[in-house]
Amino acid sequence: MVKRRKALREIMILEAIVAMLTVLGLLVFFAEPGSGIGHSDTGIRSFFTKEAEAAETQKSVEWNLRLVNAWHKLPENYSIEFTALSNGERVDKRIYPALQAMFDDARAEGIYPFVREGYRTTEEQQQILDEKTQAYVDQGLIRTVAKKKAREMVALPGTSEHQLGIAVDINADKERCSNDEVYAWLAENAYKYGFILRYPQGKTEITGIEYEPWHYRYVGEEAAKEIHEQGICLEEYLGETEH
Ligand SMILES: [Zn+2]
Repeated sequence: MVKRRKALREIMILEAIVAMLTVLGLLVFFAEPGSGIGHSDTGIRSFFTKEAEAAETQKSVEWNLRLVNAWHKLPENYSIEFTALSNGERVDKRIYPALQAMFDDARAEGIYPFVREGYRTTEEQQQILDEKTQAYVDQGLIRTVAKKKAREMVALPGTSEHQLGIAVDINADKERCSNDEVYAWLAENAYKYGFILRYPQGKTEITGIEYEPWHYRYVGEEAAKEIHEQGICLEEYLGETEH
């Protein structure tokens, strides 16, 4: 009997070892090459690689950091939920509270901004381009040249940040203050509300757009603070300066 019990215990120990080896084998099998086991924020990354990668992909296209410029087109069927402003302009509803807070605080300091232009559809962008082209034709340029010149001034449909619904052109209520006063206040304060001067001076080669003191873009408070303090543009912040 003693002998048998001993044999049983040996089998149990063997089984335990086999089970441990199996678990270890599975861990190694599922671990991402090079990542090692336990070398992650969660400690169980190896089992959740797919989820983590999905989250990272999601993060790289976070709505408030989405890049739209001449080299990064708006995704097709990009959908937006809007909030309409009192003058009929529309913005992505997610930026509305920050926009309203910014305007309220500006007004409290005697600065009276308003959104001259918010969201723009692809059709509206095309129309602006067509009108600009026509203006050049009316000046006597042949159509091909007029088209080329217009494209230097107006973004092609799909490459205007206004199509994201989180960019706004801000002007002054001229009866109460000047544009320059509004631009100066925004340059100093907009970042506190998550907005950045999107096309700063000296960054035209990177942004592809001339200095526009009226065009503000929502990126969220964290990014806006960093961009403002470092004096960089969105492309530099995102590491997308090559084109
Ligand atoms: Zn604009």
